[in-house]
Amino acid sequence: MNRSDGGSAPAVDPLGEAVIDRDGMRGLVGVLRARGLTVIGPTLREEALVLAELESADQLPYGWGVELDAGKYRLCRRTDGAAFANSAGPQSWKTFLHPARVRQWRAERTEDGLTVEADSAAAPRFAFLGVRPCDLRAIAVQDRVLGTGPHPDPVYRSRRSGAFIVSVECTEPGGTCFCVSMGAGPAAGPGYDLVLTELADPGDHRFWMRAGTPEGAEVLAELPTREVDETTRAAARRAVGAAADRMGRAMPGTDLRRLMADTLEAPRWDDVAARCLSCGNCTMVCPTCFCTTTEDVTDLTGDHAERWRLWDSCFDLDFSLLSGGPVRSSPQSRYRQWLTHKLGTWYDQFGSSGCVGCGRCLVWCPVGIDITEEAAALHDWTLRAETESP
Ligand code: SF4
Ligand code: SF4
Repeated sequence: MNRSDGGSAPAVDPLGEAVIDRDGMRGLVGVLRARGLTVIGPTLREEALVLAELESADQLPYGWGVELDAGKYRLCRRTDGAAFANSAGPQSWKTFLHPARVRQWRAERTEDGLTVEADSAAAPRFAFLGVRPCDLRAIAVQDRVLGTGPHPDPVYRSRRSGAFIVSVECTEPGGTCFCVSMGAGPAAGPGYDLVLTELADPGDHRFWMRAGTPEGAEVLAELPTREVDETTRAAARRAVGAAADRMGRAMPGTDLRRLMADTLEAPRWDDVAARCLSCGNCTMVCPTCFCTTTEDVTDLTGDHAERWRLWDSCFDLDFSLLSGGPVRSSPQSRYRQWLTHKLGTWYDQFGSSGCVGCGRCLVWCPVGIDITEEAAALHDWTLRAETESP
């Protein structure tokens, strides 16, 4: 398997492998916390699977799944006790690596004059438990945008640099998933410290775990484990391979970058604009969208001021505001900007697609606009245009 492309077959890493059970999962959270890491993972909260700090592996959503469709997210009970057989939730890891609100500085007026203090609170060192292959790819995309290059973001870098990643291969894709057609799953690509594949067989709930880094191997060595048998390896490979065949959605099999460049005047943009509310939900939930704005606030006395950095969205009218007004004043132009950047010009800027096929933008769009359906409609339009051209 080409691990850099994601894929359907789990890889065996040379740095160590073992099988753990639910006690081993408790041990994993305990070992990571004992190393001073803040462990973040999926847990059940307010009718959704949300990412939050785990004090124990018992907080994982054992026995819960999700039903996903465009504009729809529902929890459901599973017939087995699997913890990770559920696809992307409302948040992604960018919530922790690239927070929605960051105070940059604050200023106080005192009798001695004005003091300005940069906000330099140290970030916790995170361990992310349950990073899907699509989200692992999304972190790699954000690494290129915010972590490297001529202007790296210090907040992102400080949060990302020490992060320990436990990836979980996907065995239960949702109805809105299409990582296969984006080359981002369901097997994990590079970038993890540990990766696991869950097998929730009756009487033998186990996780096939492999280390991808020396630190991952150290953690694995501290856990109660048993040796890997060929039956477990084969079952895990089958489960991940079957997930690849059960994706709920797919992108059209064409050069998406080219498609975006060739369809700038397509009538489909008017069609989608008639449905789009310009709410920006799709950009907030997208694990790769990274745009921010700044906001200055003062208190009523005028003695205290702060500057905050906030997530922003290209669907916001102010996002493209220049001296003469917004450059993209119509919903049509804003949706086109989002899609053509995500699937097209992202390649020119960062060398990859900006979409990893997680499906969040479909699920959390209040009117169920489906990025795969829009891309397919644009593709159909180019095919019709080719057929009809003299
Ligand atoms: S564009 Fe949609 S499917 Fe693609 S990565 Fe963003 S949220 Fe996920
Ligand atoms: S596509 Fe959907 S989620 Fe995105 S801005 Fe439009 S209505 Fe909101």
